[in-house]
Amino acid sequence: MPLVDDVRPADPGLWRVLAVQYASRQGVRGQHFLGHDDRSAQPHPTAYYVWLAVSDSATVLVDAGISAAHAATVAGLAHRGSPVALLGEVGVGPADVDAVVLTHLHYDHTGTVAELPRARYLVQRAEWAYWTGPWARRISREHWLSNPADLAHLAGAGHRLELLDGDREVLPGLSLHRVGGHTAGMQVVRLRTPAGAVVVASDSSHFYENLETDRPGTLLHEMTGVYGAFDRVRELADPGLVLPGHDPEVLRRHRPAAPSLAGRVALIG
Ligand SMILES: [Zn+2]
Repeated sequence: MPLVDDVRPADPGLWRVLAVQYASRQGVRGQHFLGHDDRSAQPHPTAYYVWLAVSDSATVLVDAGISAAHAATVAGLAHRGSPVALLGEVGVGPADVDAVVLTHLHYDHTGTVAELPRARYLVQRAEWAYWTGPWARRISREHWLSNPADLAHLAGAGHRLELLDGDREVLPGLSLHRVGGHTAGMQVVRLRTPAGAVVVASDSSHFYENLETDRPGTLLHEMTGVYGAFDRVRELADPGLVLPGHDPEVLRRHRPAAPSLAGRVALIG
């Protein structure tokens, strides 16, 4: 039996989450934490994830990573392969994905949307409006963060693109919560699991340290929203069950999904 079916909880409305690391990059603390301090030059590695959430009856991908073609253009990125291809290692094919929650529309979270033939795409309306409206065209400091080809794919997806206004339980036990801050319409995902409420914070907290020391990262759309997001994530998650967007530590704090997947895929819930 594929691994993914082994970990599906039997109770309807319960989920488990696989954090799949598909890339990594070296960096320094000064690139990742707002404000200079005497540790800014210290090495600070970054990890890149997609998260697969599975229940007894649904398979939901949270974010879509970076495509292999785009990865080749990102300096210093060690890319393991298309996140969609890596899902094959746990027994999930592209057509098995029922829905993709896009926490936000940065290029490292939308890269494989065109590789998922059947999925609904769940995006906050405020996020979609920002990137497709007049503001993103003018705010040039954020231009490098989006991939126009991915947005064009979503724009052509017809009824498969679903725009949400604020908080909503989209499937039993899986709810989306708009937080803003990092982007105009950032959302986080809360999942009821056998171990408690897991929150995929994604880039509302790039690293555990952002949330744990109340310190914003360097990439932000709007400052008060960043702090509001920290508060909301703390409120929504049970202790120890927040999954930050880019922290290599996720694979150390949670058990491997299988011995052969140690250091690559963690199982949460
Ligand atoms: Zn990101």
